Order: sequence, then structure tokens, then C-alpha cells
Amino acid sequence: MVKKASPPLSRSVHQSGPEADNFRYVAIMIDRKNFYINGQWVAPSQPNDFDVVNPSTEEVAAIISLGGQADTDAAVGAAKAAFWPWAETPLEDRIALIEKLYENYKARSAEMAEAISIEMGAPISLSQTAQVGAGAGHIKGAINALRAFAFDRPLGDHAPGDRILYEPVGVCALITPWNWPMNQVTLKVVPALGVGCTMVLKPSEVAPLSSALFAEMIDDAGFPAGVFNMVQGDGEGVGTQLSGHPDVDMVSFTGSTRAGVAITKNSADTVKRVALELGGKGANIVFADADEKAVSRGVRQCFMNSGQSCNAPTRMLVQRDIYDDALAIAADVAEKTAVDIAANEGRHIGPVVSQVQYDKIQALIAKGEAEGARMIAGGTGRPEGHDVGYFVRPTVFADVTPDMTIAKEEIFGPVLSILPFDTEEEALAIANDTNYGLTNYVQTSDVDKAQRLARRLRSGMVEMNGQPRGAGAPFGGYGQSGNGREGGAWGLEEFLEVKSVSGWVPAE
Ligand code: NAD
Repeated sequence: MVKKASPPLSRSVHQSGPEADNFRYVAIMIDRKNFYINGQWVAPSQPNDFDVVNPSTEEVAAIISLGGQADTDAAVGAAKAAFWPWAETPLEDRIALIEKLYENYKARSAEMAEAISIEMGAPISLSQTAQVGAGAGHIKGAINALRAFAFDRPLGDHAPGDRILYEPVGVCALITPWNWPMNQVTLKVVPALGVGCTMVLKPSEVAPLSSALFAEMIDDAGFPAGVFNMVQGDGEGVGTQLSGHPDVDMVSFTGSTRAGVAITKNSADTVKRVALELGGKGANIVFADADEKAVSRGVRQCFMNSGQSCNAPTRMLVQRDIYDDALAIAADVAEKTAVDIAANEGRHIGPVVSQVQYDKIQALIAKGEAEGARMIAGGTGRPEGHDVGYFVRPTVFADVTPDMTIAKEEIFGPVLSILPFDTEEEALAIANDTNYGLTNYVQTSDVDKAQRLARRLRSGMVEMNGQPRGAGAPFGGYGQSGNGREGGAWGLEEFLEVKSVSGWVPAE
């Protein structure tokens, strides 16, 4: 099935444990040292091996190369050369290729799910559904948005000779994180392809396998050489080389606020457009009149993907009338949340992605205790029965105050902070008292109150009463959660320049 990829290494080196035996496609993921540049799989200019560690087993699952300046330059050069022909390719032809990509993605979804489970530890059932499904949904969503978008429109009846043209921004650097790999890659690559941009994708070095597979799907779909390029690498290397590159017109980045700031600064000298999707510290405001499942739903949402979602509701604000009941429910849900290796099917959560993240989460749990929060479930250390793997105990803190570190910092693990409140005004003030502003959540049966809060919460998204956002809704944040909007028409506009033309004579 693998086309033009490097041959696999010996299976025996990397497939020793029961974890590996449960996966069918592991062998084809092992050697991923090549980059996809100008329509070819090419060896890195300098060898620079990097281990991809399976977080369930702590074993090396694959080897990639970290690229260098010559690889970055080759990929950007290919994207630059491919720009005009691709930008001038009729929209329907571009969409036809994206439709082939969609078919390839669906056909290889089982491999994709395994790649994601191996690289970042999402349980295989979650990978097969939400992780892989998000990618499929975004490819389809981009096709729909492309068909509906008016790339060429009049300014208005008052100015019949004025035309507004939406044009591709140019060569894009797409830099993605590890937590929802295909979600983020498809939200960038597919709209960029669709509107006529060319690009270099640099996936997270921690979770590069899914993107290597995705590059094969693009290759199989038959996109012209140079339109899509992929170079593996880290932030210090390829990431920085891309954000400072004179031939890159735009950087679209998803990841930490720290890296978003660094990218913005590095892009400033060349005045690139920079679209940022960063971290979050979502408040979930649970009023006394909320539905009876509101608390358990909120805890599960916080723990989903082992708490590694930028939009996770990690601060639960509970009205004092139901506070004690809510604590009991939250502790119970946490204690019943099973933790297991990614290869096992079922509704458990997996490990967190890496030793670095594990250590960071452990330190934050310890800090929560040290600063006086009341631990009602979980705690530091690994859950019982997991001496190996980056497994974290599902943890709930009660009596958290807004000034505590665990109420302020993104933890990115299965750790929930619960804060009491009395009035709507107080809840709103606590929710908005954050540098972030990605998703907030409201649970109440009072329609007026819900809508009042939806307007006053300072965040790019508000989800109410467990209702997920619809397909094509814009995803993005306020404040230090970033400045971009992905998905639907907004996700196309990210990759478009707007040109204003006068003296335009409309066609007869
Ligand atoms: P990260 O910022 O460390 O890395 C993200 C990507 O940026 C990786 O590809 C990395 O190699 C690259 N990178 C790192 N430093 C860089 C630099 N100086 N220049 C250029 N590139 C650089 O983040 P992570 O640990 O991979 O991901 C977790 C973070 O992502 C969390 O903070 C999470 O909230 C955020 N996130 C945000 C969204 C969103 O849409 N708002 C979605 C998912 C994750």
C-alpha cells in the first residue's frame, strides 16, 4: 500500500510488547525519515534522526529526521514555483483533487487511527472515531465551503464598477501540534489547497506519523508537484526557518501560546500574515438550574483525550447551592474513568503524550495541593497497574480560587479545577479573568441567562447545555488563545487576500 516511502526497518527492534501486536499497520510506520518535497519522497539533506516514542509503552515506535535549512529552502522553493499554476487552476479542478484526497483518507482511515494512537496515545476507539473523524469532517467541510464561497463579488449596488476579488495569499507555512493531529492538519491544508495556496506542512515532531500518512494520501490523489510539501522538524529548526523565511507569505500555527509569540516575532521582519490557534483555559459555568447530567458531562469533556484539548472545559464554576452534590458527582466520575493503553479498545482514556508533558502535569498537580486546593480524586503518580507509559490519574480539585496556578495555567492533562460561585455576575467575572479566551461553556435551563452570558463571555466560542457546535462553525479564540478562525467560510478567508478593483465592466 505504501508508495514511494522508505522501506520499513526490522520489525523486531520496535515491536516487542503486546501493544505493538494489537496494531496491524505498525511496520509501515517505522521508518519515516524522508520528506515530501516537490512531489517526491526525498532523504533529508543531513541525517538527524529523532525517535517517535509510543506514550503507552515508552518504546521507540518510529524514527523520523529533523530537517534543516536546506530542506526548508527546498520545500519553500517548490511551493513558490508551484504557486501561479496552482492559483490559476480552476476551482472545480482543485476541488476534484480534494475529493480524491477525501476518498484516500476514508480508505486508509484504519491506518490513520493506528498512526495517531501510536504517536500520541489516544485510545484506538477515540482515534477511529473523533480523531480520524474530525479530519474527514474538515475535508468534507472545506469542499462544501469552497463551493459556497463567492471568490469574485460586486462591492454593492452603489458602486457598480467595483469588484472584490478573493485571491490566495501565496506560500503558506502550516505548523501543527500533536494533540489532535489530523483535526489540525486538515483544518489548514485543505482550505489552503482549495483556495489556491501552496504550502509546507511542518507537523509536530512528537506526532509526525499521521502527517506522513496524510502526505501519501495527497501524493496518491495526484496534486501537482510542489503544491503540498511536508518537512519534519522541530520548532527551533524547521519551525523557525519557516516563520522567518522571506518566500513564505503566511504562517498558520496551532500550538502553545509560547510558540505563537515566538512565531509572530520571527514573522514580523517580513510582515507575514500570522494566524494563531493557541491554548485555552475554558470555564464551564454550571448553574443550580442546569440539567442533571451537566456536571458528569463536564468532567468527561475535561478528561477526553486525556485532557489534551485546547478547548477542554478545565475550570468548572459551580453555583454554591449545588456545590457539594457537584463535587460528589465529579469525584465519582473521575474514580470511574478508566486509564489504559491506546491499543485496547473501549472507553478509557490513554496516556498523555510524552515524558515532558507527564512531568509538567505532575508538577501542576503538586502545585495545586501546595497552594491549598482540596484534592477530591486522583493525585500525583501513575494510576494503579501502569508502571510504564505516561499515564496520569484523573484528578479533581475542589475549592480552587481564581488566583491559584491550576486555575490560571493550561495543564493539558486529565485535571479538573472546581470553583464555587454565588451569582451570575461573579461567575462571569471569574470566567473572563484569564489571558485565554477559546471556548467557554454554560449550563442552565434559563434561556435568557444563557444568552446573556453567551454575549458577555470573552471567548471565540461558547457551548451551551452540551450542544456541540455545528459543522462549518468557526473555531478560534480571543486574547492569548489566538487570532485565527478555522472551519467553514472563515477558514477559507484565513488563506485569502482581498483585492479591491475599480473600473470593472461586468460581463454581459
Ligand atoms: P508547541 O507550541 O510546543 O508545538 C506546536 C508546533 O509548533 C510543533 O509543530 C512545534 O514543533 C512547533 N514549534 C514549537 N516552537 C516553535 C517555534 N519557536 N517556532 C516555530 N514552530 C515552533 O505545542 P504542542 O505542545 O505541540 O501543543 C499543545 C498546545 O497546542 C497547547 O497549548 C494547546 O492548547 C494548543 N492547541 C491549540 C489549539 C487551538 O486551535 N487553539 C488546538 C490544539 C492545540
